Amino acid sequence: MTVTVQAIPMLSDNYSWLLTESETGKIGIIDPAEAAPAIAVLEAAGLGLDMIFLTHHHPDHVGGAEELRACYGAQIVGNRADAHRLPSLDVPVHEGALVAFGPANARVIEVPGHTLGHIAYYFADGELLFAGDTMFSMGCGRLFEGTAEQMFDSFAKFSDLPDEVLLCCGHEYTQSNAKFALSIEPDNAALKARVDEVERLRAAGLATLPVSLGVERATNPFIRAATAEEFGERRKAKDNF
Ligand code: ZN
Ligand code: FE
Repeated sequence: MTVTVQAIPMLSDNYSWLLTESETGKIGIIDPAEAAPAIAVLEAAGLGLDMIFLTHHHPDHVGGAEELRACYGAQIVGNRADAHRLPSLDVPVHEGALVAFGPANARVIEVPGHTLGHIAYYFADGELLFAGDTMFSMGCGRLFEGTAEQMFDSFAKFSDLPDEVLLCCGHEYTQSNAKFALSIEPDNAALKARVDEVERLRAAGLATLPVSLGVERATNPFIRAATAEEFGERRKAKDNF
């Protein structure tokens, strides 16, 4: 039994993620910004939709949720602390909650910073981490509501996950993040190799995601920040980059 994932591009640079559980055929989706691209993929494959997992309340992550629930009778999962600003939740969750997805499950990790109610979902079956706008490839989300210290602590919550885990995040921001990362660590060989790979992928019109946490640990200047202060300085520098 395992969970597999497929990116569905939405809006200009968002990714929603389609999940399939192999034993029961349960289907889930992470952060549907829009309903139409998801419906197109589901109809082409003759699939229904069971669960809608939301990481945070921004419109580019929840915009299609209500319509998808109405179409498929799917259940919406989200942070109970943010219920007032999310679509109505069928499954309100909190730190440490395990959300059943067939025989697999998603563990909820509270990761305040981008927003205060932001959560991530970790599927141990399939080794998938859905980080929304918290951690991007070679980058991190903007601090709209939380502090650098909160975001640093949120990043630290991913540190016990295996290197093999695939980071599935909310946006294709990789190329612009790569330029900033190179300005911080111009001599990092792993970073230079990843930047080359990213350039090849984008030139071919392909997604740079998902990416393993092992690669991110070797290349992401925010994971590599030693202290909350350094993390905050880098976030500020990226805002003005
Ligand atoms: Zn956001
Ligand atoms: Fe976003």
